[in-house]
Parts: sequence; structure tokens; C-alpha cells
Amino acid sequence: MTPPRAQRSSTAASELELEEPRPLPRVYECDQCGASFEGDPAGSGLLVWTRGEEVRREEPPLCKDCAEQLTVGALLKWDLEEEEEG
Ligand SMILES: [Zn+2]
Repeated sequence: MTPPRAQRSSTAASELELEEPRPLPRVYECDQCGASFEGDPAGSGLLVWTRGEEVRREEPPLCKDCAEQLTVGALLKWDLEEEEEG
């Protein structure tokens, strides 16, 4: 079974017009260590919180090192929480 594919309409021309010819390399500032780096963030810590009825999401850009540290930290945290439950 293959899932039904989204139909592609012939609007390629108009899509091309919306594309920027030469996208500038974006410079991000790491949310953790403040280092600036070009290109896509290696990872981002997804922050989600609710304020009243509004759900806010924020994905601060992180450099490669901080993204890895954050991932490891999250795994360690889950590990500890599991142990505490036992
Ligand atoms: Zn960093």
C-alpha cells in the first residue's frame, strides 16, 4: 500500500517567481554560548510553553556543540527521571 501522493498542480512558474535568486547566508547567534555561525543551526532546543490559552513555540538556534550538549543533557534527564520513578 502506498499512500496517496499530493497532487502537483502546474504552478511551477509562479513558485519560481517567489523564490529569491540568491539567498544570503543567514547568520545565527547560538542561544546557549552566544557564538555566531552561518548556515542552518545544527539543532535547536524547542521551547514550548502555554500562556493562558496561547501556546507559544520558540526554537532558539544552537551551534553544533551546544545542540549536542542539549541533546545529551535531555537524555540524561530522562534517565534520571526514570530511575526516580522506580
Ligand atoms: Zn553554542
